Amino acid sequence: MTEIQNYLDSYNVIVVGAGLAGLGAACQLGLANENVLLLEKHNVPGGFATSFVRGRFEFEGALHMLSDIGTPDNPGALYRFFRRIGLVPEMITFKNIPEYYRTVYYDGYDEVIPYGVEKYFNKLLELFHQETEGIEIFREIAESVYDGIKYIGSKRGNVSQKEILKNHPWIARVIGLTLQDVFEKCFNNKRLISVISQPWGFLGLPPSRVSAYAFLGMTMTYLDWGGAYPVGRSHALSSAMAKCFRNLGGDIRFNAEVEEIIIEKNLVEGVRLTNGDLYKTNAVISNVNPITTSMKLINKNIIPDEYKKKIYAPAIGPSGFSVYIGLNAISEKLGLQEHETFINIDDDLDAAFESFHKISEPKYMVAACYNNIDNSISPPGTSELVLTTLQMGDQWQLIPPDQYHQIKDDYADKMLKMVEKTIIPNIRDYIEIAEVATPLTYYRYSNNFNGAIYGYHQDVLNSPMMRLKSNTPIKNLYQAGAWTNFGGGFSTSILGGRVAAGLYLKNKKEDDL
Ligand SMILES: Cc1cc2nc3c(=O)[nH]c(=O)nc-3n(C[C@H](O)[C@H](O)[C@H](O)COP(=O)(O)OP(=O)(O)OC[C@H]3O[C@@H](n4cnc5c(N)ncnc54)[C@H](O)[C@@H]3O)c2cc1C
Repeated sequence: MTEIQNYLDSYNVIVVGAGLAGLGAACQLGLANENVLLLEKHNVPGGFATSFVRGRFEFEGALHMLSDIGTPDNPGALYRFFRRIGLVPEMITFKNIPEYYRTVYYDGYDEVIPYGVEKYFNKLLELFHQETEGIEIFREIAESVYDGIKYIGSKRGNVSQKEILKNHPWIARVIGLTLQDVFEKCFNNKRLISVISQPWGFLGLPPSRVSAYAFLGMTMTYLDWGGAYPVGRSHALSSAMAKCFRNLGGDIRFNAEVEEIIIEKNLVEGVRLTNGDLYKTNAVISNVNPITTSMKLINKNIIPDEYKKKIYAPAIGPSGFSVYIGLNAISEKLGLQEHETFINIDDDLDAAFESFHKISEPKYMVAACYNNIDNSISPPGTSELVLTTLQMGDQWQLIPPDQYHQIKDDYADKMLKMVEKTIIPNIRDYIEIAEVATPLTYYRYSNNFNGAIYGYHQDVLNSPMMRLKSNTPIKNLYQAGAWTNFGGGFSTSILGGRVAAGLYLKNKKEDDL
């Protein structure tokens, strides 16, 4: 047994990992006046939500568009949380993204899809007037599901299945459906399906696999609240959240990698860092993925087989492959007016998904030009473009080290060719600097299995309603992050972290009674 005098300090709660979910959980606990220590292995907070500098450019590491922000006068759920922790309006301002996305195909099809529920559906009707009836049915389903999601949110998830069935039957109906199942009730026009599905990369699965609930919830949230981007990039957002946590009385240690979560008599007692430092605690919220938490950070022999099955059963989602490009021309000169452009070879989204499983030809990607939200993002006369596609991480682990750089450069070159073919024919003339991130980069950064950026796949069995929850077989150990609760993404991870903290507070209150 670990002797009590070895502990450097004692806390009500220790949060392991200052990714977005760790920060969300820590701030929520700070609001409840808990005595909290946040431990992060890197020297900065945020996990994926960070930035890096190459040459005279500072690149956004992950965020394309933040959902759930809205405006100060009409705030979304995330903005309201930020207000409560003191982050807005004082520390961070958000720029609203003008349009939802631009969608382009090798056959020359090129359209811009707007934000706003009304504008979005009107645009679909304008583009596909022959599908009017189906689009109206689709709208009805999407709005009904979204009403249900808002209702569940307003009750903080404390709603019985009976109540959902009675008041929001579409939630119960779509919960077991893929997005493709929903489309089949409405239309089978391949281009229409493809245009609506464009942001499928944000969830990592094509319509035939992705949970309809997750996709419709994401789409309607973006349409309703618009997309936003923090001035100063996601690094500024993560740093400001860390500052809010400190202002709420919390302690943070960076360069503090947790090696062990110490369990005594099936309860968390403390944590040990890789440098040997020990902290005592009444509870741990782990922002480290559930597999590493249960199988590496604690003695795996005490984890019941049933829970092991739960954490190993869901398939692990994709990682990313990104090319960060600094261009010595302004975005207007490059012909780029939109922030987010999805580039597709054709409408075969299953084939595009298959391309994530091979390191051969990218078939779907997004090109994000941040200057179209905030021109001060890069030095005058320049612009930043980030090309991102998805790749399954396991195949990158098999590459012999001496071939890694060649394979990475070849794949980046193929992504540039997709850009040349569609939106900027002469892009190579303007490249001042380029950096490439592969699944191995994302693995090194996050410690996530296979470098997964959204945690488990967001399929029907692992949609926000069905996903692994924060509670674990160890009563005072909780999970937070993309792998649990609402799934991957900025807003979902932050608000999911808040859920983990809420569960701890609820259990504590019950224990005190
Ligand atoms: C290229 C890219 C683009 C993306 N685009 C978007 C987007 O546009 N919109 C969107 O909503 N989402 C986007 N995402 C997804 C989103 O960034 C993630 O889903 C989200 O940030 C996950 O947050 P998290 O808290 O679960 O975990 P992570 O970011 O994985 O954080 C985990 C933290 O734990 C720390 N840690 C790990 N092990 C230990 C240990 N033993 N001790 C101490 N600390 C430890 C890590 O260092 C890290 O800080 C994108 C991601 C990427 C990579």
